[in-house]
Amino acid sequence: MLSRMAHGWQRIAALCCAAVLLCLLIWHFLPWSSGIPKFTQALKNASEGLTDYTVELRLIPEEKTEAISETIRYRNDTGDTLNWLVLRTWLNAFETEETSPAALEELYGACYLNGFSYGGLTLYDVTWNGQPAEYAYVNPDKTALRINIPALEPGESGTLFFRCVAAIPDCAYRTGWANGCWQLGNVVPLLSVYSDKDWQTDAYSPIGDPFVSECGNFHVSLHAPEGYVPACSAVLTKGKDGSWQGDLLSARDLALCVYENIKVAKEKAGSTLILSYADTEDHAKRALSSAKKALRVFSELYGDYPYPAFSVCQVNFPFGGMEYPALCMVGIDQYSAEKADSLELTVAHETAHQWFYAMVGSDQALSPWQDEALCEYAVLRYVQNRYGQSSFEALKYYRVDAAIMESVPGSLTPGSPISYFSNYQDYRTVVYGRGAALLMALDDFLPGGTDAFLKAYAKEFAFQHVTRKQFEAFLNDYSGLDASPLLLDYLDTAM
Ligand SMILES: [Zn+2]
Repeated sequence: MLSRMAHGWQRIAALCCAAVLLCLLIWHFLPWSSGIPKFTQALKNASEGLTDYTVELRLIPEEKTEAISETIRYRNDTGDTLNWLVLRTWLNAFETEETSPAALEELYGACYLNGFSYGGLTLYDVTWNGQPAEYAYVNPDKTALRINIPALEPGESGTLFFRCVAAIPDCAYRTGWANGCWQLGNVVPLLSVYSDKDWQTDAYSPIGDPFVSECGNFHVSLHAPEGYVPACSAVLTKGKDGSWQGDLLSARDLALCVYENIKVAKEKAGSTLILSYADTEDHAKRALSSAKKALRVFSELYGDYPYPAFSVCQVNFPFGGMEYPALCMVGIDQYSAEKADSLELTVAHETAHQWFYAMVGSDQALSPWQDEALCEYAVLRYVQNRYGQSSFEALKYYRVDAAIMESVPGSLTPGSPISYFSNYQDYRTVVYGRGAALLMALDDFLPGGTDAFLKAYAKEFAFQHVTRKQFEAFLNDYSGLDASPLLLDYLDTAM
């Protein structure tokens, strides 16, 4: 009897141990195995009162579509009475070759690998506070949708709802399907930015990143076929019904990549979960290692990384990378062995955008230097920090000094809006290279140097949208000097 009882207890103990081991194993192989990351108190504080987006997504690969159901709870903080809202519907630019940003001559062959492919949104059931709302596109590429609403006074709130079907083009671009990856940047419609008594309706420029939006809070659910792996600005976890769920606070966009087949590397660095998605384990680990180093350097230089996770997503497009809040896309070419340095610098540049674009927003259509030049400068500091002064000098010569010597059309300056540029070569030389020269000049001009200024700038304007005028005013206040002639010289004077 005793021995049988002892045997029973041994079996129970063994079963318990096996159950614990099984749980640990399952935990280890889940993408969030390092622990589901939490939002910081700073992020929670910043999220209060922001526009709230509840987004339900259903990817239907066989139809090359994504069904979207979206509820936007909006409070009018503009100070004006609003009679309409404007949604940015960027995907509609992919309807025709005339408006598609991927149809730019220098990109077409690399993006439309199988010829032109249609993309666009079909809207259904647009309501405001439960009542049908009239709507119409207000710009030629149909990327700005005006929705009429009954007068919404300052301080009043309301709820916009709509469903739409997004046709995803066969296109190696930031939006498109390519080689087993659903690259879903700028697919979810977002409210535009209200400034100077109107909503912004900039066209989808083929050069640069024309996206301008305020921070909001996102609640996401995604249905994708079994076996597909999603990467998202929000950390997604799989529910019992097979759908993926997640939240993201204080973010100005929501991007996803959904993979049919992918390798994932993951690591917790401090309080940040880093996820890296690539075609091989080695590639995923290399990109993760670069992201980890960049997050550490920039956190020290410009303040804490704000989001609980950061995803680096290998995609198919002819660019180095593309930034979104808590996520970046990196072109598959960057992962080749010959481009080891290039992958590291690309990841560093896109990671820097988490501070200058994602956290501190600016008008990327009107003043692209305000995020691109800052990120290019940050990459130089990253290299100096990691590899020393001579590597910094070499990269500075290659990316900044050479840009100043290069010949470009006379009217282009780093302060030009993206609509002035007709090719990527000039855009990169002027906005990135010559723009970064301003930050190098500020390093001599400012008593504490540029990095200390950028840290104060990031703290002052976290989760806000900063105009050039505000940048300039803050710079003058911060330094106690008049930096305006320097800005005029570097940003607005043609060479
Ligand atoms: Zn950039």
